[in-house]
Amino acid sequence: MVRHTGGCHCGRVRFEVLAPAKIRVSECNCSICGKSGYLHLVVPADRFTLLSGCEVLTSYSFNTRTAQHLFCSVCGIKSFYVPRSHPDGFSVNARCLDEGTVEEMAVEQSNGREWEKQYPAGRGDYRDR
Ligand SMILES: [Zn+2]
Repeated sequence: MVRHTGGCHCGRVRFEVLAPAKIRVSECNCSICGKSGYLHLVVPADRFTLLSGCEVLTSYSFNTRTAQHLFCSVCGIKSFYVPRSHPDGFSVNARCLDEGTVEEMAVEQSNGREWEKQYPAGRGDYRDR
């Protein structure tokens, strides 16, 4: 496991996440991820730490309102959030990770547009446990 750091554009939101140096991320085609180009690196809650920016985070919810789409109220960037597929963990936007610690990034497709088909168990699993 490697300690990756990252954050939003203006630098107020900063976090660290423990994940392999070679990460597997998913590109989701759902209504919100498709528009933002979000790349998901999903981790259990104990591998994510918010270092700063709690006071500028704003939350947006829709549909089932399970996911908490957190974004910086200053620069508008969603650098991490609580996903519907893993409501007890976090999804970090791999595009918001700092350079230097990710050796390799494999992108796979996720069919969030047909959420119930993608997650027949009603939720997703964690990798690298
Ligand atoms: Zn910001």
